[in-house]
Amino acid sequence: MSENKDPHLTGNAVEDVKFVYDFTEGNKDLKDLLGGKGANLAEMTNLGLPVPPGFTITTEACKVYLDSGEAPAALRDEVSAHLDALERRMGKKLGQADDPLLVSVRSGAKFSMPGMMDTVLNIGLSDASVKGLAKQAGDERFAWDSYRRLIQMFGKTVLDVDGDLFEDALEAAKAAKKVEVDTELEAADLKKLVTTFKKIVKKEAGRDFPQDPRAQMDLAIRAVFDSWNTERAKLYRRQERIPHDLGTAVNVCSMVFGNLGPDSGTGVAFTRDPASGQQGVYGDYLQNAQGEDVVAGIRNTVPLAELERIDKKSYDQLMQIMETLENHYLDLCDIEFTIERGTLWMLQTRVGKRTAGAAFRIATQLVDQGLIDEAEALQRVTGAQLAQLMFPRFDEDAKVRQLGRGIAASPGAAVGKAVFDSYTAIKWSRSGEKVILIRRETNPDDLDGMIAAEGILTSRGGKTSHAAVVARGMGKTCVCGAEELEVDTKRRCLTAPGGVVVEEGDLVSIDGSSGKVYLGEVPVVPSPVVEYFEGRMHAGADDADELVEAVHRIMAFADRKRRLRVRANADNAEDALRARRFGAQGIGLCRTEHMFLGDRRELVERLILADSQAEREESLAQLLPLQKRDFVELFEAMDGLPVTVRLLDPPLHEFLPDITELSVRVALAESRKDPHENDLRLLQAVHRLHEQNPMLGLRGVRLGLVIPGLFTMQVRAIAEAAAERRAAKGDPRAEIMIPLVGTVQELEIVREEADQVIAEVQAATGTELRLAIGTMIELPRAALTAGQIAEAAEFFSFGTNDLTQTVWGFSRDDVEASFFTAYLEKGIFGVSPFETIDQDGVGSLVRSAVKAGRETRPDLKLGVCGEHGGDPESVHFFHEVGLDYVSCSPFRIPVARLEAGRAASSSRGSDHR
Ligand code: ADP
Ligand code: MG
Ligand code: MG
Repeated sequence: MSENKDPHLTGNAVEDVKFVYDFTEGNKDLKDLLGGKGANLAEMTNLGLPVPPGFTITTEACKVYLDSGEAPAALRDEVSAHLDALERRMGKKLGQADDPLLVSVRSGAKFSMPGMMDTVLNIGLSDASVKGLAKQAGDERFAWDSYRRLIQMFGKTVLDVDGDLFEDALEAAKAAKKVEVDTELEAADLKKLVTTFKKIVKKEAGRDFPQDPRAQMDLAIRAVFDSWNTERAKLYRRQERIPHDLGTAVNVCSMVFGNLGPDSGTGVAFTRDPASGQQGVYGDYLQNAQGEDVVAGIRNTVPLAELERIDKKSYDQLMQIMETLENHYLDLCDIEFTIERGTLWMLQTRVGKRTAGAAFRIATQLVDQGLIDEAEALQRVTGAQLAQLMFPRFDEDAKVRQLGRGIAASPGAAVGKAVFDSYTAIKWSRSGEKVILIRRETNPDDLDGMIAAEGILTSRGGKTSHAAVVARGMGKTCVCGAEELEVDTKRRCLTAPGGVVVEEGDLVSIDGSSGKVYLGEVPVVPSPVVEYFEGRMHAGADDADELVEAVHRIMAFADRKRRLRVRANADNAEDALRARRFGAQGIGLCRTEHMFLGDRRELVERLILADSQAEREESLAQLLPLQKRDFVELFEAMDGLPVTVRLLDPPLHEFLPDITELSVRVALAESRKDPHENDLRLLQAVHRLHEQNPMLGLRGVRLGLVIPGLFTMQVRAIAEAAAERRAAKGDPRAEIMIPLVGTVQELEIVREEADQVIAEVQAATGTELRLAIGTMIELPRAALTAGQIAEAAEFFSFGTNDLTQTVWGFSRDDVEASFFTAYLEKGIFGVSPFETIDQDGVGSLVRSAVKAGRETRPDLKLGVCGEHGGDPESVHFFHEVGLDYVSCSPFRIPVARLEAGRAASSSRGSDHR
């Protein structure tokens, strides 16, 4: 919607605002104004499909009401005008005693939202008009059934009467009559029920059920407006990150009746199977029923295919309409319909929700049918869906016992023994047990327990709760807010509905993709999509399923479209080979720190403690061949593709023993009068190197400048490894990356030394080595002086993790667990800036550094190697700012490839997600 020109948004031109649209006036692109339901009712009306006439009150009217507590003054007249028109068209008046027009009042926001007001059907019925309806329909039972439904729905949703009271009265009426289902109640029974229902309303709401039809309608409209702000609706919006200021539209739709006997009924349908994508006849139908009866499980529905036998004419027409809708929306649609005495009416349609697997299958099916092209197919799937398909999952064929369901907060399938506190989680996991940490909700004290657990289950909190935020950050499976499960941490047990109790030590399985919680160990099966990426299953092979085939094709579309290249963050040959299988076009970040741990740590210790140049050189000389071997293996695995090696980055003390442990050891030795000289020296060094804020201390290029010979040893290892690969007829493409540079001078010094080493290796081996030298841009100062830095750098790689930490001035390890939940809940950010790049802050530095860097050096190569490189939304941003590649963990590579393809082919304004 163009914000400036739209009369609805310019507050002072209130007279021009139109608050009510007839179904004939709207269309599917007006979801902001008419809500999803209203926009699609209008679209179907204009397609010439049989939609009962009606009109839609806009979200703008709702917003005025929510802001001021009053409906806009003009609304009443506008509603009257549209109601008049409707009455003229239908040839009867709302609630007219001898032949009443009846309507439904239906909520409908832009996004479908549980927690919003339920629809009220049959508005316009009263003690007088119920008789007229009976006469007109020639069916007294039908009229009283409709009336009791009105009082029930109106009482519950508009007047806030406890719905169980009506249900109980209905049950009592059936019991008195000794019948099983409501259709067996006769007119006289229903008439009595109406009297009972009216009494319930009077008692509970303190007022009579309103007999004036227009009053019924107005009250219902207002109740829809109010329902925007129910607690449930607000909670849902917070969880789904739907803005709170959209408001809801209200649809007023003339009634058609599925409860007029066996030649009438109501149903739901899908144009294809939302679980598999298969085209066919999917849905349910219920004869002699109204509205939600079909999904409420009050009577047994029949599969939609049965309708062909029940009412062939309507069935054929419905099939035709389904085809029309698919060809029009070019997608899977779901549908609500009603048949009134052999006449078919369409009551709702929308582009239907589907599983991740079905999304891929449907997209390729639609391409094959010639309905959409490859670029559009890419818009029909998401990286998040692909990621979901790549998690191992529970075996669908396994016998399971579901305990309950919560919010799917962080995907994956986790199995383990139930523990109810972090201490036990840590203790048990140390002794090799797999555990699921179950808490009512988690807090920062639970962090270690969460790390130790396979998965986390909470009974409170939504997608932004502590458990959810931290688990997502760790990539750990999490189900949160499973409110139906009662967690008792004192007694260390969990009680599920029905009384099943899970005690500490019992096995449970949690599915972070569906939110389901199971008792016992559910077998986990590998994802066929991962099998495919691993090369263990081939698209087109006999045993390849349709899903693998579809993923294969969509990935090919993405690879054809994308401009961004995708590299992997990998530091060993094994990860590099896997990344290659997953489609990596090089390594964007090889961290060298792990190469200094394990057996080699002692050598590093000696290097740090060295008193003399000679001693230092000896340690370096011992490290050199080990480093070189690492690189030879890596270059071989990535032969022909670029490998960016980052020189040592973390604070040195990470390679030294823990200060407390060492102090204790030294103190004990001293008390035995047997101090170990090496320990003493070590302790001194550890003290000397101890930092208050290691993240901002001696690390990265600063280390290289302070410890003589460290970086040159690494450069030599890289150069010699490259020369060796060349000698073996390989094609090594190493790039040397300097971390944590803040100013060009740092880079110049390191560069000069590196160039010299490379020249020496070239001379010694007689091989020409073209080793690019570049830098990470991960400090604000580096980004701000990118133009200068580019003079000494052949490439930039944005380290967006550290850049996020330094731009915001917080350290991830400290803040994610402590206050991110509060920030997310207060809406300070919609999503953690470590998950999705903060475009306004961190992103704007990236943007300006790209520009300045390229101004200095037009052929500067630009990439990103933070975790954001595998995040869908961030990938779109990196595409847009013109980076050459993104680099992410091997497992995220397919997601990055797909999103890069989507970014390159997205046409703004596409209707799909
Ligand atoms: P929801 O948003 O829950 O889908 P709807 O507004 O679609 O609610 O209405 C609830 C039920 O009532 C649906 O089964 C719908 O088809 C039915 N319904 C709504 N309006 C009418 C009408 N005018 N005539 C007959 N049935 C209707
Ligand atoms: Mg509906
Ligand atoms: Mg960094």
